[in-house]
Amino acid sequence: MASPALLMRVVASAYSVAEKAATIVRNVMSAGDLGIVEKAGPNDLQTKADRLVQMSICASLARKFPKVTIIGEELVIWVDPLDGTKEYTEGLLDHVTVLIGIAYGGKAIAGVINQPYYNYEAGADAVLGRTIWGVLGMGAFGFQLTEAPAGKHIIVTTRSHSSALVNECISALNPDSVIRVGGAGNKVIQLIEGKASAYVFASPGCKKWDTCAPEAILHAVGGKLTDIRGNAFQYNKEVKHMNSAGVLATLRNYDYYASRIPNTVKQSLVP
Ligand code: AMP
Ligand code: MG
Ligand code: MG
Repeated sequence: MASPALLMRVVASAYSVAEKAATIVRNVMSAGDLGIVEKAGPNDLQTKADRLVQMSICASLARKFPKVTIIGEELVIWVDPLDGTKEYTEGLLDHVTVLIGIAYGGKAIAGVINQPYYNYEAGADAVLGRTIWGVLGMGAFGFQLTEAPAGKHIIVTTRSHSSALVNECISALNPDSVIRVGGAGNKVIQLIEGKASAYVFASPGCKKWDTCAPEAILHAVGGKLTDIRGNAFQYNKEVKHMNSAGVLATLRNYDYYASRIPNTVKQSLVP
């Protein structure tokens, strides 16, 4: 296994660099010039905050752990400087997170999710932002683990990257309600805080840096995150970045949702 001392040093560093990142995310927004550029198109945006946070996290981790992405050949760190960039540009600030995931032997084993605008609607005196973190086998911290309402099927899914297949898959699950919010980090937060019972995204688009930290935290509290066909994600350095076969995640009752994903949907999404 990964050296526990090294793993805890990396988690501690990820925690503090994520807090520094959150300050940058807030400062760019307050300064008013987001510097938006389109990557692959209007639904794949990058802002000045994405760029500055990426540099800040990578520089800090590289300084502390020379050979930043690979430590001892097997520890790989997956960084999403800003998850939910689309929502960030549209002022949906609590959808935004900074994600730092740590993988060992291809498996997501620890993660940090900083939510820079947590509490932003709670008034001027409220403390802005929070950091959620977790280690497999140890647990997850920085939030109150809450179960979704029993017997209700509440699906959380994409707000800005929907498609016919995404909606067909959700309809097949016959949900009681559907929550559409931005960010993979934010959607896993909805699961661990009992707001939603399943995260369902039947589409390519999510990348390994979107799922590594949320997966590690979800797994640390007994949940499960896979692609829509039920395959576990691999996070070794050679792996393809795109999660081509979508995402299915729950805190509880994973099998209920997995068994109801239509075969036609599974066949449309090739890992
Ligand atoms: P969403 O659930 O739409 O907020 O997406 C979660 C993460 O996956 C975000 O980082 C998105 O940028 C990314 N993502 C999902 N679908 C797409 C897509 N069609 N194009 C680009 N990025 C996507
Ligand atoms: Mg992202
Ligand atoms: Mg991003």
